[in-house]
Amino acid sequence: MEILRIVSDLLDSNTFVLKQNDEAVIIDAGAKLSLVKPKVDGAKVLGVLLTHGHYDHAMHCLEYASEFGCKVYAASAAKEYLSDAEKNYGKFKIENFEEFCFFDGDQTLNLGSFKIWAYATPGHSKCGVCYLVCDTIFAGDLIFKQGVGRTDLFGGSKSEMLESLKKVQSLQFSALESGHGEGSTRLEQERNLKTFIRFLSR
Ligand SMILES: [Zn+2]
Repeated sequence: MEILRIVSDLLDSNTFVLKQNDEAVIIDAGAKLSLVKPKVDGAKVLGVLLTHGHYDHAMHCLEYASEFGCKVYAASAAKEYLSDAEKNYGKFKIENFEEFCFFDGDQTLNLGSFKIWAYATPGHSKCGVCYLVCDTIFAGDLIFKQGVGRTDLFGGSKSEMLESLKKVQSLQFSALESGHGEGSTRLEQERNLKTFIRFLSR
């Protein structure tokens, strides 16, 4: 699997295009469609997966869905964020959810040749999801290379953050990509997660 990272102009959030066998999956939607299209480069896009509903990760999701003829996947709790500009911290809101596939809890998503595990990981937001694809976790704003997401925004929770970090710690993965900044290795995350789990457990 090939992982292409696009840095958006919305708080430098990451949008990822994952490609294998002429098929693609897009994770998050902060980058302009014009930046995403050349990365997709004719591959068949099977879905847009949102890590959470904040505007810098979701703003362009319906443009992608319409351009590529696919659905947008998100936790059910994301609806509250996407439909309310104050809760997603942007100037956008979605009123028609026809193109969405919402899910609850942990799920497996089979999209073409992609087998994707979606793990409910609230803490930074109520609708946080980590996606495990091959051996890489796409963690959105839950976990960064050095640090974890803030919990003081709407729907954030320190206790849920702690449980979600423990959940990610228990998963098998070799790399982790975050919603902002560079990715990290399993080893780097072992240290990072340990530090923040200890900090939040106090
Ligand atoms: Zn966020």
